[in-house]
Amino acid sequence: MIEFQQAGDPVAIAVDLANTWDTLESQHEQLREVADLRAFLERHAYSGAAAADERDLARVREFRDELRAVFAEPDEDRAAMRLNGLLERSGAVPQLVPEGEEWALRHTPVGSGPSARLIAAASAAVAEAVSALGWERLGTCEAAPCTCVFVDRSRSGTRRYCCRLCADRAATAAYRERRRGDPG
Ligand SMILES: [Zn+2]
Repeated sequence: MIEFQQAGDPVAIAVDLANTWDTLESQHEQLREVADLRAFLERHAYSGAAAADERDLARVREFRDELRAVFAEPDEDRAAMRLNGLLERSGAVPQLVPEGEEWALRHTPVGSGPSARLIAAASAAVAEAVSALGWERLGTCEAAPCTCVFVDRSRSGTRRYCCRLCADRAATAAYRERRRGDPG
């Protein structure tokens, strides 16, 4: 039987995966061992997480780095080429899956483990976000040294930070900067 991930927010999961490389942490790599990958999969309600192994960890990390490169690529054509490459290599095919009372169209490599499903779902989610919202909605946090990525789904489309914490950190830094510039 093919098992699918539960209904979630595929874009949020893709962003969460991209940010498992976290430059705010003393050790940037958050997927250090197989147990970290299993915990990530479980957190996002992927079935079969316990089967993830070293090979899955290497694959997911490599994919994560390539996904971050899509967010960092300033040239739209090149970004599209990168993302299309990820979609192709993920082996994702559109599949109808039951979600509650409804049927949802999900991109899934048929009959494969949770890591492969995560990679396919994340590729498809980011591609769908780009087609719906545009490349300018893929962002990288401006509160250095944070380099976390985000998909700006706000109405205004003016998001600059990955999270509330970074927005506050940037505001505090700007305030201190102003104070320092005050004469007397
Ligand atoms: Zn941030």
